[in-house]
Amino acid sequence: MTTLYTPTRDELATLLEGEPRYRLDQVWQGLYTQLAEPAEISNVPKALRERLGAALPTALTQVIRKVSDDGDTVKYLWALDDGSKIETVLMIYPDRVTVCVSSQAGCAMACGFCATGQAGFRRHLTVGEIVEQVVVAARDARAMGRRLANVVYMGMGEPMANEAAVWASVERLHDALGLSARHLTISTVGLVPGIRTLADRPLPVNLAVSLHAANDTLRDELVPINRRYPIDQLMEACAGYLAAKGRRLSFEWALIDGVNDRPSDAAELAALTRRFHLPAHVNLIPLNPTPGYPTVGSPAARVREFRDDLVARGVNATVRRNRGTDIDAACGQLAAGQPVTLTRR
Ligand code: SAH
Repeated sequence: MTTLYTPTRDELATLLEGEPRYRLDQVWQGLYTQLAEPAEISNVPKALRERLGAALPTALTQVIRKVSDDGDTVKYLWALDDGSKIETVLMIYPDRVTVCVSSQAGCAMACGFCATGQAGFRRHLTVGEIVEQVVVAARDARAMGRRLANVVYMGMGEPMANEAAVWASVERLHDALGLSARHLTISTVGLVPGIRTLADRPLPVNLAVSLHAANDTLRDELVPINRRYPIDQLMEACAGYLAAKGRRLSFEWALIDGVNDRPSDAAELAALTRRFHLPAHVNLIPLNPTPGYPTVGSPAARVREFRDDLVARGVNATVRRNRGTDIDAACGQLAAGQPVTLTRR
């Protein structure tokens, strides 16, 4: 379905045929600079605003908007035109504002520890649905006196399973919203063909890979798609990305108590990055609770030990501060309406 943020500039020009040529600039700026909906683009005539509003409905209908206790995280639950639900998370930091967007309704990757994976796949999102998540978050950030500059494709879904729409959204965010490619991060479970395609794309976006294990036996279990694209193939694709873009990669590692937080796991991870000459940054995330997974996150002391161990082995590693657990907005907790919070230890 064509929605407000679907058309490219050229497609919008076609839609505006018969109008004076400057209308295209006015509407484009209205949408992407003023972050306005057609009805609010006050410098174009009312009849045209109405025509645009009818031809280009918004994609996202707000179901719930939740703000975390300290007000620095906002989670939106949206309904799409077919009733599918997705979530978006806006994170306000002292020095930057970041939005975490969904690329699919649900996810087919079936990682057992992730609430989205537990729920299964519904459908791909369109470029219009992805871009609108960013625009709405940018509008909200602006209302708080802040400018949204960072986008992470770390919400629901596997971006590299929907590469074409994801890439079209990257181009739009870059060209129309003016976001720097260096502030856009695509996270993948490790779909090797997607990483290769991304390496051939022109803009140097950041790549994050959800690794979680550095040997195939454990990774097969945690991240089932590893059976199709085992670690060596994945690392080669990562090395290819690095060579093509010259950007530092990051690896995500959800620390699961007693599963992938042992000294041997740190040693394996360090050996892996060395073997492939990958100067990656490791983001450690203590596992967040989800209803369908029995195991819990590593205790704080273990998290610190694991980080120190990696650093001592020459691997750049930091612990990602957890955001929005109180509103089920943290990594792996996006379940579009199903409450995921469990009693915490
Ligand atoms: N499908 C993509 C994009 C999602 S990013 C990917 O897997 O990279 C969401 C991140 O949160 C991924 O790194 C994912 O592995 C991680 N994650 C999933 N469940 C989690 C949980 N319960 N606790 C912490 N991190 C989790």
